[in-house]
Amino acid sequence: MSDSRQSLSLSLSAGDALVVVDVQNDFLPGGSLAVPHGDEVVPVLNRYAAAFQARGLPIFATRDWHPPNHCSFREQGGPWPPHCVAGSKGAEFPPALQLPSSTVLITLKGTEPEQDAYSGFERTDLGARLRALGVLRLFIGGLATDYCVLCTAKDARKLGYTVFLLLDAIQAVNVQPDDGRRAEEEMIQLGAVPIRWKHLAG
Ligand SMILES: [Zn+2]
Repeated sequence: MSDSRQSLSLSLSAGDALVVVDVQNDFLPGGSLAVPHGDEVVPVLNRYAAAFQARGLPIFATRDWHPPNHCSFREQGGPWPPHCVAGSKGAEFPPALQLPSSTVLITLKGTEPEQDAYSGFERTDLGARLRALGVLRLFIGGLATDYCVLCTAKDARKLGYTVFLLLDAIQAVNVQPDDGRRAEEEMIQLGAVPIRWKHLAG
């Protein structure tokens, strides 16, 4: 993205939270709904997570979590192969993802057979938990740029959060080749601030 933001420098402070969206085995290369280069977000998110943990700031991790007969699966007429079935290996976080034990899991996403949810806020307690902690700024990364990251960031903006989009910690499905880029533009247009690791000062 733009180099015009190179001068941007951010300090993490109270009121900030990291939101790791759907970094699960099924969305990584080898998984049933693999996001191209999905594994590349893992080491970068580990860095962000370590920075948040070092400052005592909260970390949230959302999980897609479906029943075996979920409406988003092709057998049920949905667009996707079966993925992230509750309790399965594919729904687990990859071993390389290093989230501190204090990470708050938001697992109740898409748990009903007839409902799907791309946003981490949809029918979950994420919003209530953020409010309870006095969170004002969300740093959002994970998978995939053009689905769950997009919808989570959109809802976060609607709810009035300042949103930083972690450009180096997202990857797109790109069903259409431009979907990821378009999603980034949409989020930025809605006020999300695109940043990279280098923009976080000490
Ligand atoms: Zn899903």
